[in-house]
Amino acid sequence: MSMIVCADCGSMQALPELPDHATAECHRCDRLIARRTAVSIEVSLVCAIAVMILIWPAVFLPLMQSTIRNLVFQQSRLVSSVAVIYGEVWFPFAFGFLFFALLFPFLRATLQTLVLGSLRFGTPIPHLGRLFRYSEELRIWSLTDVVVIAGLVAYYRAGISAEVELGIGAWFYIAVACLVVLGDRALDRRTVWSEILPDRAVPPMQHFTSCDVCELVVTERAAGDACPRCGGTLDRSIRKRWAPAMAAVAAAVPLCIPAYAAAIMVNENLAGVLEHTVLGTVQLLADRGYWQIGVIVLVAGVAIPLSVLTGMTWLLLRVRFPHREGLVRRTRTYRLLRRLVRWPMILPFVAAIAAPIINYRGIDDIVAGPGATPLFAVIALMMLAVRLFEPKFMWRTAGEVR
Ligand SMILES: [Zn+2]
Ligand SMILES: [Zn+2]
Repeated sequence: MSMIVCADCGSMQALPELPDHATAECHRCDRLIARRTAVSIEVSLVCAIAVMILIWPAVFLPLMQSTIRNLVFQQSRLVSSVAVIYGEVWFPFAFGFLFFALLFPFLRATLQTLVLGSLRFGTPIPHLGRLFRYSEELRIWSLTDVVVIAGLVAYYRAGISAEVELGIGAWFYIAVACLVVLGDRALDRRTVWSEILPDRAVPPMQHFTSCDVCELVVTERAAGDACPRCGGTLDRSIRKRWAPAMAAVAAAVPLCIPAYAAAIMVNENLAGVLEHTVLGTVQLLADRGYWQIGVIVLVAGVAIPLSVLTGMTWLLLRVRFPHREGLVRRTRTYRLLRRLVRWPMILPFVAAIAAPIINYRGIDDIVAGPGATPLFAVIALMMLAVRLFEPKFMWRTAGEVR
């Protein structure tokens, strides 16, 4: 038996020993608090090591080759996207792409290798819990899966102008994205946490605080102190995070205007200059018969950002104007938004990946348009708002948790 305080609703509960394949959900808000996998941590360890190594050829080897009527030839690499967007649009987008597609996934795999390797081989590493917390926080910011889908859309989009072939780097990157998903599915987070520092077996008799990340029950420290297991803040104060989250949402709203009104891709070809907005890209893909890809772009580029924007505003207002009814529903909504928020990155990434492939000056040339950076900023701000928000705030102001 181990005592856990749900990170989403702050309810304390006793977690029994689980059999293989079993999952445990919070009795109040049905957050998944434990999932016992049938495989050992070695599977996740191997995946993390493989990601750490394979991501380099995936980024540096040729991603796609394109030809126009066998006359002109062009080859792109993921890393060349960074230089191309840097030259075409504002630098934050170029650096954002570099971090989300390469550096964060690499860093996360390295941290996981350290933590899981230390647990597997019994080599002590200081601040193990802290390293594992960082690797978990990087989960939302590592966008290998999003890059793969964006690459697919870019491949079909580029196919309209030229003959495109996938290069060896693309296959490496797809393998990396699959390994990340596999490693995550195989990872039993509750076991990792309890191996770093075991949870209490009995409910505390005196006043306690709890960790918002690893869900540890702590009796000997006060709210605001660092968690003894992961170094996260115990019972974090609402004020420090509510205002920045609200500010991120507020800043995203006006940026939506250039993001959706301006072109995210500009296509200069022999017929003239075509400017593609988000909706224009959907239309172009649908007109050429790639309507399935058009639907992906429509959902990821328009439906999800709008839902996240309205959803987060609603949740943040509910912290300020608490209401007991619907807490569970809002907590579930938050978890859904947290899952969805990264996917709109597909759109600016399509521009980033397509720009270096269709780069035939005077014949056919795609460059990232003026709308790409605001769109990137809107999505990054939404991701930040989701990261800063904690559903526990709603439960606390509604008087359901201390
Ligand atoms: Zn809960
Ligand atoms: Zn903790």
